[in-house]
Amino acid sequence: MAADAEGEAAAGAGSGGLALLGAVPGAPCCPHGPALLFVKTSQGKDEGRRFYACSACRDRKDCKFFQWEDEKVSQTRLAAREEYNGSHQPPCTHRQNVERYKNFVLLPLSKRRFCQECQQLLLPDEWEKHLSHQFLSDISTAQLRSPSQLLYPLENKKTNAQYLFADRSCQFLLDLIISLGFTRVLSVGTPRLHEMIQSKASQEEDFRVRSLLLDIDFRYSQFYTEDEFCHYNMFNHYFFGGEAAHETCRKFLHQEKDERVIMVTDPPFGGLVEALASSFKKLMAMWKDTEKGAFLSLGNKDREMPTFWVFPYFFESRILEFFPSFSMMDYQVDYDNHALYKHGKTGRRQSPVRIFTNLSPSVIVLPAEEGYRFCAICQRYVSSGNHHCEICNSCTSKDGRRWKHCALCERCVKPSWFHCNKCNCCALESHSCEKTNVGCFVCGKAGHKRSTCPSLNHSGTSLQAGKGRKRRQKTLKTLKRAELGVCKRWAMKYAVFSRRKTKKKKDTTP
Ligand code: SAH
Ligand code: ZN
Ligand code: ZN
Ligand code: ZN
Ligand code: ZN
Repeated sequence: MAADAEGEAAAGAGSGGLALLGAVPGAPCCPHGPALLFVKTSQGKDEGRRFYACSACRDRKDCKFFQWEDEKVSQTRLAAREEYNGSHQPPCTHRQNVERYKNFVLLPLSKRRFCQECQQLLLPDEWEKHLSHQFLSDISTAQLRSPSQLLYPLENKKTNAQYLFADRSCQFLLDLIISLGFTRVLSVGTPRLHEMIQSKASQEEDFRVRSLLLDIDFRYSQFYTEDEFCHYNMFNHYFFGGEAAHETCRKFLHQEKDERVIMVTDPPFGGLVEALASSFKKLMAMWKDTEKGAFLSLGNKDREMPTFWVFPYFFESRILEFFPSFSMMDYQVDYDNHALYKHGKTGRRQSPVRIFTNLSPSVIVLPAEEGYRFCAICQRYVSSGNHHCEICNSCTSKDGRRWKHCALCERCVKPSWFHCNKCNCCALESHSCEKTNVGCFVCGKAGHKRSTCPSLNHSGTSLQAGKGRKRRQKTLKTLKRAELGVCKRWAMKYAVFSRRKTKKKKDTTP
């Protein structure tokens, strides 16, 4: 059937003619849990055709699940699908991996091997099966405490897909968390932060912080117990470990009087912001439910679980659309394995990745030794290049460079931009002038973009529609072009569990 081409489109969700409708009750499942509902539109048509596709994988090579919403699926196909889903789960359960780990640490150093090809700790009776594989030996306790260094960053069709915090940024996050008085960290897709916390907890007696890692990378189950790691899909809020894993998370979120919980997340920048937001809201709701006794009585009804969402600055409006209580910090988050965006001071390009938080910006103290300073008017820490604009009455730079005020646009713009009279907005000098009132991708009508399309039943679009509309219409094209360039390079920061190395069963789904 025509599923192939459509699947390709699904894999590229976020690009033209495609919109996410979200998680819906009764959605069919792929190996990564319930699929998400998308709509594909062709130009001029009012209604697009809806289909389900994998929530986690944008690359069809990683998950080829596809189903039209109105498609009749036969019992045979359903059964085949179920079998396929079952056979595409990890070869070991988490429990089994925990048992293996217990045995592994009892081994003398000389017998501790890690198979690099299978990404697996090996017990001596398994050596034979892996003889032809590359392996590391003498795996030390220190190595076991830093699995993110032992495991290779997960790959998709590009090379390195997992983007690990540079030590400097990871340490900054942890120091910040501690100084704010948090003792529990829900680490959603932040294995390196998790391991820094767990590692300190196991070595420093008076270190009180604990972490629970939620991640789709099942390899981590080899190193952490069921109380420390849950196999989790953050695009559909799916716990692979079922109710027991759910309960682990719930228990972790339940804070005692002197415990304070914060969620820290660094998702792949796949553009499915609404899917992420919906999952984070569910995690926040779990937190709130556990708080009933403790907080509601204190008049804390409207409190939200404190959160750090690490994401590129050009997603600011998207994030605020779903979380109006969030604001973006100026701190530039650096990564180890990304050549382009390491520490700006070393002469390389500056990282576009920021921290979004619902905590008061005034308490997020950024390091003075890296040039950040406190703006008393804005009541927040800003980067050294971010100057307070008298007219906007705010520190307006988003990317760390000094922005300039355009009187015609009535706002500050990037230093490289100039006001174009034809477009009636600021843009790069090299831009090609275009009218920007092309119709919406979803419904084809003019006046809005697909992210705010009324036919999609979005919630919480008021912020964008109000404050930003004029500006968005003027500059969206230019913004998009500039940002897509950055996005493409960052799109590789995307990882899913895949069993490419293991024997594949004959695939029976169409
Ligand atoms: N900077 C972080 C890692 C971020 S990379 C750190 O150093 O700790 C993105 C992380 O999200 C990876 O750990 C990856 O395994 C995880 N991830 C990718 N897709 C996911 C999904 N669908 N659900 C949950 N976690 C996912
Ligand atoms: Zn899938
Ligand atoms: Zn300011
Ligand atoms: Zn200004
Ligand atoms: Zn122009």
